[in-house]
Amino acid sequence: MAKRIDVKDLSVYYGDFKAVEGVSITVEPRSVTAFIGPSGCGKSTLLRTLNRMHEVIPGGRVEGTVMLDDKDLYAPGVDPVSVRRTVGMVFQRPNPFPTMSIYDNVVAGLRLNGLKNRKALDEAAEKSLQGANLWTEVKDRLKKPGASLSGGQQQRLCIARAIAVRPQVLLMDEPCSALDPISTLAIEDLINELKADYTIVIVTHNMQQAARVSDKTAFFNLAATGKPGKLVEVGNTTTIFNNPTQRATEDYISGRFG
Ligand code: ADP
Repeated sequence: MAKRIDVKDLSVYYGDFKAVEGVSITVEPRSVTAFIGPSGCGKSTLLRTLNRMHEVIPGGRVEGTVMLDDKDLYAPGVDPVSVRRTVGMVFQRPNPFPTMSIYDNVVAGLRLNGLKNRKALDEAAEKSLQGANLWTEVKDRLKKPGASLSGGQQQRLCIARAIAVRPQVLLMDEPCSALDPISTLAIEDLINELKADYTIVIVTHNMQQAARVSDKTAFFNLAATGKPGKLVEVGNTTTIFNNPTQRATEDYISGRFG
């Protein structure tokens, strides 16, 4: 079940350095929200707070709240590992486990969760690979290593691996930045399909991509180098691109900086 994300007054730190300040944003279930803005404004940092990956970095901490429906992800006693299971993540560079087979890559998370039944694993592998639009390309070579696939296929394999454990939210950190244009379009089509089932947040440097795949766009900016990144505005993607309320958004969208 896709969940609503509710971020309230979130600030994110690396030790003493405040990288992101005072962000409040709601992400609706079954929608795609794009985070855009110049490099260093904290998009990836903020994204990683949504599944408690940020705190893996020494000195990494947050102030504020992140709710998934009515569950506070940072409440005392919440297990970060279970949060990461609920909120899946796909990274910039496809990172399949290189020596594992395609099949084993997809079911890795399910096995970690203790699933052993071969038939259940087979069904989950097929369903996830179908969900990631990869099944027809790999169904006859499931035993081949994940690393034998093309970059675009590897990224779809990583998406299959992420959705195999049936997360409620899918976070994507520039998922197409290492891919060619055709693979990029395949991933964008896939994002469009996945939003029927998931809440999706995508960080992208590519403005056309944000315009193509997202329902909502959030623009982040830095007042100056060394200052924390802030959310400037968030709204329907068509509005943010055609009629933003803030000058900085307009300047960024029209390519004047960043
Ligand atoms: P964006 O994704 O918008 O390019 P980032 O979230 O990567 O921005 O970075 C935001 C700020 O946090 C930058 O000033 C960056 O240098 C800093 N930062 C990112 N990762 C780390 C880290 N591991 N340790 C310390 N500072 C970091």
